[in-house]
Amino acid sequence: ENVVRMSGVSKVFPNGNVAVDNVNIDIAEGEFISFVGPSGCGKSTIFKMISGLIDNTQGSIEILGSQMNPMQQKRTNVGFVFQDSTLLPWRSVLENVMLPLEFQKKSKKEKIEEAAQALELVGLKDYTKSLPRQLSGGMKMRVSIARALVAKPKLLLMDEPFGALDEITRQSLQSELLRIWESQKMTVLFITHNVFEAVYLSTRVAVMTPSPGKVASALDVRLPFP
Ligand code: ADP
Ligand code: ADP
Repeated sequence: ENVVRMSGVSKVFPNGNVAVDNVNIDIAEGEFISFVGPSGCGKSTIFKMISGLIDNTQGSIEILGSQMNPMQQKRTNVGFVFQDSTLLPWRSVLENVMLPLEFQKKSKKEKIEEAAQALELVGLKDYTKSLPRQLSGGMKMRVSIARALVAKPKLLLMDEPFGALDEITRQSLQSELLRIWESQKMTVLFITHNVFEAVYLSTRVAVMTPSPGKVASALDVRLPFP
């Protein structure tokens, strides 16, 4: 089943910039797909359209079987992680992870439990009470991942999440991410300009052309996952 279907999708910004030009791609449930391409080729714009933050100007985008409706799918079905995903500095790690649950009709106790589970998944169960500034860059990224996962999204969008981390931290987070992806049965869309990272992590790599972005080719880098 396709989780994302983009056909003939383009984005022209009001100032005339063509950021994305006629992208066609279907993404199946359970894939881990990376988008690689030079800076400015439209990777983030594709993610913003998938997440409903911005509209496409042409073509159609289906997410989880329904036509995109800007902002609508966003909260529960799609999780996000960005390189500089900001944590609220005056809230504890646990409170930060609970944020996506804010508007869910659940008891506070359930929300705390779910946030604690998400933190356990990223290896931070002993840091629930810490403040973001007490954590290293890698740990903050783990908190951001826990926050993205807490509402159990079907789709996880990650935009250069590990770009700012040192090599050792990046490697350990890469293997953590694979473990989480395999255990959570999610579909992951991952932006990187690091080809090695893309090939190491992904089941498929979508290679984009320089601006305006098209998906030039999509390479299967692993056999279809289990
Ligand atoms: P990438 O993520 O691959 O680096 P982006 O999706 O951020 O690329 O940008 C693609 C192109 O769209 C770039 O040329 C960028 O300058 C342009 N662009 C992005 N956002 C806007 C905007 N709000 N208004 C005008 N042009 C934009
Ligand atoms: P609550 O949990 O009741 O929303 P917060 O701890 O989030 O309360 O803080 C309430 C308000 O105080 C925030 O909306 C913010 O504007 C301000 N605030 C408190 N601490 C900080 C901080 N370290 N940095 C920026 N704003 C802060």
